[in-house]
Amino acid sequence: MPVIKKKCPDCEGESEFWFGDRAFDGRLSWASSEYCKSCHYSVEADDEGMLPDNLRDIELRQKGTWAVIFENYELNIAKTLKLIRDCLGLTVSDLKNIKNSLPGPIFPGTRAEAERFLFYFKGTDIDPKIVRFQQGIV
Ligand SMILES: [Zn+2]
Repeated sequence: MPVIKKKCPDCEGESEFWFGDRAFDGRLSWASSEYCKSCHYSVEADDEGMLPDNLRDIELRQKGTWAVIFENYELNIAKTLKLIRDCLGLTVSDLKNIKNSLPGPIFPGTRAEAERFLFYFKGTDIDPKIVRFQQGIV
């Protein structure tokens, strides 16, 4: 989980800010927390969905970009597309480009964003694999 040193908004000492996203039951959520050891200033935030853009950029830079390969998608293209659609909440017309991108790697993003797909394909013949798309700096 990325940890960033920040200037405490209360005492201007050094505070630690950490954040992260995760996938659970095919859904994304994220959380962040800032704490200052000097004055005990603390603030926390969390929400459903993807990380806010500024935090997501840091996550991708530090931890790298991940993507998904849908192995065996040829066995059942319609089902693969339906499950991708269920996962991302897409319309039918959105799927056209996705179909052309199979088997992938597609959907570059954070590790958790890639992991959310696994839930939807559990117990099917289609076997999504998470692959590193681009290296991070740590
Ligand atoms: Zn402080």
